[in-house]
Amino acid sequence: MGRTVRTRIAPSPTGDPHVGTAYIALFNYVFAKKHGGDFLLRIEDTDQTRARSDSEEAIMTSLKWLGLSWDEGPDVGGPKGPYRQSERREIYQAHAEQLLERGEAYRCFCTPDRLAALREEQRLAKGRMGYDYHCREIPAEESARRAAAGEPFTIRLKMPKEGTSVMQDLLRGEVRRSFEELDDQVLLKSDGFPTYHLANVVDDHLMEITHVIRAEEWIPSTPKHVRLYEAFGWEAPVWIHMPLLRNPDKNKSKISKRKNPVSLAFYKEAGILPEALVNFLALMGFSFGDDMEKFTVAQMVEVFDFEKVSLGGPVFDLDKLNWLNGLYMRDLSEERLLEEIQAIWLNPTYFAKLLPLVQNRMKNLNDFIDQTAFFYNVELAYEGADGAALLPKGKTQKEMADALMGAADAMDAMESWSVANIEAALRALAEEKGLKIKELFMPVRVAISGRKASPPLFESMEALGRERVRFRLRKAAEYVKTLP
Ligand code: GLU
Repeated sequence: MGRTVRTRIAPSPTGDPHVGTAYIALFNYVFAKKHGGDFLLRIEDTDQTRARSDSEEAIMTSLKWLGLSWDEGPDVGGPKGPYRQSERREIYQAHAEQLLERGEAYRCFCTPDRLAALREEQRLAKGRMGYDYHCREIPAEESARRAAAGEPFTIRLKMPKEGTSVMQDLLRGEVRRSFEELDDQVLLKSDGFPTYHLANVVDDHLMEITHVIRAEEWIPSTPKHVRLYEAFGWEAPVWIHMPLLRNPDKNKSKISKRKNPVSLAFYKEAGILPEALVNFLALMGFSFGDDMEKFTVAQMVEVFDFEKVSLGGPVFDLDKLNWLNGLYMRDLSEERLLEEIQAIWLNPTYFAKLLPLVQNRMKNLNDFIDQTAFFYNVELAYEGADGAALLPKGKTQKEMADALMGAADAMDAMESWSVANIEAALRALAEEKGLKIKELFMPVRVAISGRKASPPLFESMEALGRERVRFRLRKAAEYVKTLP
């Protein structure tokens, strides 16, 4: 009898939960359930410099919203925990030691300065890039002595210097890569933290993952992982690399937040139902059969097979998502419809944020509707004199499109979403772009409210939320280019 199927999603908590994470989670979930197996959530948070504190929670909330629940994970526990990599550091250290003992890895004492000089030399010589094996032949006793004396080191995996790495991918067949292109990978950094490669492979093995289903962008890492399994003497999982989601543009570029909203929170706020969004993600590469486009996750589980997944770059097309969502909307009971609308718009928390912003601007109660309409819309029309205010006198369309895009990026880059941080980021941006405060703030005001006069700007942006603000700034950047 074969092993129980176990799959996982292993997101890094570096920002807002991404549609790509939900897409990969869906296929892992469905495959595990199809085979009566387990689906795990593991948080890959070893890169402390990139981790954002609120991100883990947000990932879990979004996956739950979509109904993709896990059998084991940081919140629910399980027999193979902990499920957060930052809590598993000793495990990785012990495994790196194990590879040293097996002669499959070695300590590298090269300083960051030496490595930088090496890179520069290689760049000028236009030859092979990568580590030059300088420490690979240091005798074991000398290596141990230097480590004991406190000399800093990393641990590197010995890769073959020639030959070809071969990986069997369930969807792609053989994927080959010449070892000459592959470096002796660092497994453990000098601060004792593992790299992605070591932590990922050790965890997949210890958590008994049978099928690694992940995005195509990880293919370049897989030869290193295959080699690691071999070095440990472990059986490797089945590899399945799903096609990347694409923007609906001419070159079908990889989906990116510069072109499309990619955060799950955005779609929730844009009024998309969770069952429509998972259904839409399922259509990215999977065909149900009989041209069926509308189906539930439970139905997908019943018929799922990787034979029904094709690799032709699936296009993340918002029109299609909206169409599908419309079908689901029609099916909702009145009760659920009311519940959903109340949950996103007519809830006391949101009202409590908006009321103080508009109270002084209202002459009667009905003004509430007019004053707050922009808080409820997804897209705005920038018309007439208001639209024209996106382009201050003496500025070019290109300059302002660039400034508005810059504002969208600055909103993304900030750690926590607060009134003070929004204001600081916009002031810094004005300075950077050589704009007067008014020359930036007025266009931003129009971009987010559709009008020249609005409730207090930064507070309004905070209430609107990061994703809708980014979406509007991007739209305004496009619009400003079309102004006469
Ligand atoms: N931490 C990686 C990510 O952020 C995991 C990739 C994998 O599934 O191996 O997606």
